[in-house]
Amino acid sequence: TELLAKPIEKIRTQMEDLQRADASISRIRELFATPSLIQDGAGAALPEGPLGVEFRDVTFSYDRDVDDTPTLDRLQIALQPGEVLGLLGRTGSGKSTLARLLLRFYDPQQGVIAIGGVDIRQCKLNALRKRVALVTQTIEIMEGTVRDNLTFYDESILDDKILEVLADLGLQEWYEALPGGLDTKLASGGGGLSAGEAQLLAFARVFLTNPGLIIMDEASSRLDPLTEQRIENAIGKLLANRSCIIIAHRLTTVQRADHILILENGSVIESGRRSELAADPGSRFSRMLSTGLEEVLV
Ligand code: ADP
Repeated sequence: TELLAKPIEKIRTQMEDLQRADASISRIRELFATPSLIQDGAGAALPEGPLGVEFRDVTFSYDRDVDDTPTLDRLQIALQPGEVLGLLGRTGSGKSTLARLLLRFYDPQQGVIAIGGVDIRQCKLNALRKRVALVTQTIEIMEGTVRDNLTFYDESILDDKILEVLADLGLQEWYEALPGGLDTKLASGGGGLSAGEAQLLAFARVFLTNPGLIIMDEASSRLDPLTEQRIENAIGKLLANRSCIIIAHRLTTVQRADHILILENGSVIESGRRSELAADPGSRFSRMLSTGLEEVLV
């Protein structure tokens, strides 16, 4: 018995470990079994060129057990190819959530989101995310070279083209200071880039990968006037012949929108053509224009 005591004790503790592991596996299974799990689509193709966007009665909540007001409530949006939508609303109104749904980080519980006339659940996720670009305030830098970060490993994009785009965006000096040119490794997380450079590099990525729809979360931080001017020029070019949904923080950017949509607590409280809303003294939008965006939106 002396001889057996140790191995038996070992088996007993291993059994306990296994039981604990089994319990956590069930918990993980439960998490993944929720119907909100994103399933890859069958592979419907998105058309070339600028992509229109449609939200048909879209309702979404992060937590379906709480049936409070949903995070997005019966949203209706119709954006024609090449048009620009300015998305406004206070912090927490649902702007980023709307952006996440377009890239299928989540699926809505109700309604349909169509891009380029295709229900996005029918598209392959990687095809969708190639044609729809999310441009946020901070560029997501992957571990890799400058080239990899700008082309996402698309080898058909030539170096000359990359240099042309960088020069166009006013990043020539930045590029010339790189020790290894396009082969320079960038640290993931974007360390070493200034806010302005990060934003301009994110734009360079858009010009090179040429998506048909851009969702842009405009930087709200103040930048030096030269960078500001460069970004402003770049946004102008970025929007030419592309559809865009802009979460705008600056008046100059808002002025580029064809349509305006104002969210409050996940509901649309105002929407329409920018020119018409601006001309209507009773609209929230025209009040925003007169009081300044910061005051109304923060
Ligand atoms: P905005 O971009 O307009 O600031 P968000 O879309 O980030 O608004 O948030 C809308 C609402 O959803 C807020 O109440 C926020 O707290 C909630 N929310 C945002 N992200 C998550 C998440 N990952 N899980 C649960 N709730 C979230």
